Amino acid sequence: MSARVIIVVLGKQGAGKGTQCKRLAEHLAIPHVSTGDILRAAVRDRTAVGLEVAATLEAGQLVSDELVNRLVEERFEQPDAQRGALLDGFPRTEGQALALDALLGDDGVKICVNLEVTNELVTARLSSRRVCQECGAIYRDTDIEAISGTCTNCGGDVIQRADDLPEAILKRLEVYERDTAPLLAFYEQRGLLARVDGDQDAQDVTADILEVLSERGIG
Ligand code: AMP
Repeated sequence: MSARVIIVVLGKQGAGKGTQCKRLAEHLAIPHVSTGDILRAAVRDRTAVGLEVAATLEAGQLVSDELVNRLVEERFEQPDAQRGALLDGFPRTEGQALALDALLGDDGVKICVNLEVTNELVTARLSSRRVCQECGAIYRDTDIEAISGTCTNCGGDVIQRADDLPEAILKRLEVYERDTAPLLAFYEQRGLLARVDGDQDAQDVTADILEVLSERGIG
């Protein structure tokens, strides 16, 4: 295995990519790189990128390949990403997948794990999801953190993302079908796709992912 372990985690919004990447990052000692988290932090901090993309994120549309590719390239230059990364929410279009291949050169993507879930399940999950604006911790609307509005990890504000409102969820699922679902064939053709049932308890999903990784000598 070459030095850099790049794992792409695919799946609809709400499939559990963030939750699984956090668990796997600890297990594999490589960082969880979420382009959604990077973009939301930019919006929160009102950086130039944040001001440029705020309306796009709120509407559940995709920001440009060019911008996202640049953010990932910059993230890959950081020391913790030299061993590898768990990519969550990137690539999301074929253009981004090709840019990722070009960026990685000979190293390449080691595996693409697709978390399989139905639209009904993700709609229910996303509608009840609440997140900490500071650390990204994920809660359900019935959790004490969601009710009190305060994260028990870091004390940050726990909110409902604007793009987890019903209209934006529908839009994001449409965008997923049109732009991101074709990536399954892209990675399958390269012999890199592993499918995992995302409709199980989080620890069972993690166990299944670790199994497909170990079948390929990762972890
Ligand atoms: P996520 O947290 O992955 O659901 O991303 C939230 C939002 O950030 C998406 O709905 C897009 O507006 C934007 N975004 C995140 N990753 C990408 C990407 N790879 N390409 C384009 N837009 C992205």
